Amino acid sequence: MTDPNTNNTNDRMSKLVALAKRRGFVFPGSEIYGGLRGTWDFGPLGVALNNNLKREWWKHFVDSREDMYGLDAAIIMNAKTWEASGHTGAGFCDPMVEDTETGERFRADHLLKDRGIDAEGLSLAEIDAIILQESILSPNDNTLSEAREFNLMFESRIGATAGDAGKVYLRPETAQGIFVNFKNVVDTMAPKIPFGIAQIGKAFRNEIAPREWLFRVREFEQMEIEYFVKEEEWEEHFEKLRADIQAWHRHIGLSDDNLREYEVPADDLAHYSQRTIDVEYNFPGKGFDELAGFAYRTDHDLKNHMEHSGVSMEYIEPDGSRFIPHVLEPSFGLGRAFTAVLCEAYREDEMNGEVRTYLALPAHLAPYRVAVSPLLKNKPPLVEKARTVFMMLKKEFGNVAWDDNGNVGKRYRRQDEIGTPHCIVIDFDTLGEEAPEHADTVTVRDRDTGQQQRVAISELVAYLSQ
Ligand code: ATP
Repeated sequence: MTDPNTNNTNDRMSKLVALAKRRGFVFPGSEIYGGLRGTWDFGPLGVALNNNLKREWWKHFVDSREDMYGLDAAIIMNAKTWEASGHTGAGFCDPMVEDTETGERFRADHLLKDRGIDAEGLSLAEIDAIILQESILSPNDNTLSEAREFNLMFESRIGATAGDAGKVYLRPETAQGIFVNFKNVVDTMAPKIPFGIAQIGKAFRNEIAPREWLFRVREFEQMEIEYFVKEEEWEEHFEKLRADIQAWHRHIGLSDDNLREYEVPADDLAHYSQRTIDVEYNFPGKGFDELAGFAYRTDHDLKNHMEHSGVSMEYIEPDGSRFIPHVLEPSFGLGRAFTAVLCEAYREDEMNGEVRTYLALPAHLAPYRVAVSPLLKNKPPLVEKARTVFMMLKKEFGNVAWDDNGNVGKRYRRQDEIGTPHCIVIDFDTLGEEAPEHADTVTVRDRDTGQQQRVAISELVAYLSQ
């Protein structure tokens, strides 16, 4: 039998995806119309977890520091942005092959990777040669077409303008919104270098083959920072940010065993990057793959925007010296962080002779911080007291669940499955009816151990805040 708590079974991932659907974390996009590949909708609990991740990320990288500034740029940008950044060219294409029988399209580099061949940096002709040499077929066992470049940007049209003049793109990354606002932030905030600009927002990529749940989708959220430094100081700040990225992943509960850094080899680096580290997570059934990226992008982006727009991207020091800053870019995908957090938290064990599933989510990420319920829902004094406790905690924490369905055991199972760290039950003791010394105390049950403790109502906030 496979151990459900080891991290390398497909089984574990499919159980997690089922739980996420059943309990309102993630639904397939446009489900009633048969879905839409590469899109997923976040339900009430998914939104709560996502919001907690975004809030914690902002606290960690922006609010707790003095050198970070926030930004929220428009998703649709002037199309010249994407010419300057290189996204309209070959730099943002993936090699695509077609199944010659079914017409289904695949990423050629992924088919090669499945065979243990790294296709990074190979030309289309080299990919074709390998496909021929290794007799690589499509996953349906049919022959493959020649590889061709496929641009990942979604195109649209703005207003009623016909032809290419109205062509716009949905942004494929949030980063460029930061670069085009570099001057605005410098002019309005007068930041001292080094400083960073952070942004959280949607990005869109017309992935050839979306797959693996939230891992490779066509619409997703990114949390990105462009950190501007003097060229000669990039290594020092690279190390500092690298440590901060590690601290972030620990803060969201990911264990060191499931994380590793992959130093992208020099010959695989994007042309603008002098150093890139991918942070990889050990996804169940998939193994280590990219969770976040961290790149030293030199002055490539600001220089390009300066050339294309004619607007100076120079930073002027108090002594009047001018230079184009160099850039360090930590880039996180929210969906991949969401998946990693859930994978890490997923547990199965036996409690009171029954198999139970629970999510050992950190309290600062759990959709509900705590659940409150009256022992019996048809006893008005219990309900009234429970409502008082519920309102008190709700005022303090916000994300508090009211749960009075079924018996207490069922409520515990339900809250365990969505990762609520504590359940509070108001019983006859709370009312002082059984043992007067227990008046105004409640039962607090711990999700992970199942242990229960009596805690005075007046001490609940402090107890839960530990
Ligand atoms: P990959 O090599 O997996 O395609 P990438 O190197 O193209 O990713 P970046 O452009 O560095 O990714 O984007 C930064 C982050 O955005 C990634 O580390 C990942 O977390 C997230 N991301 C990128 N593409 C997708 C996608 N299609 N679906 C979900 N998340 C994505």
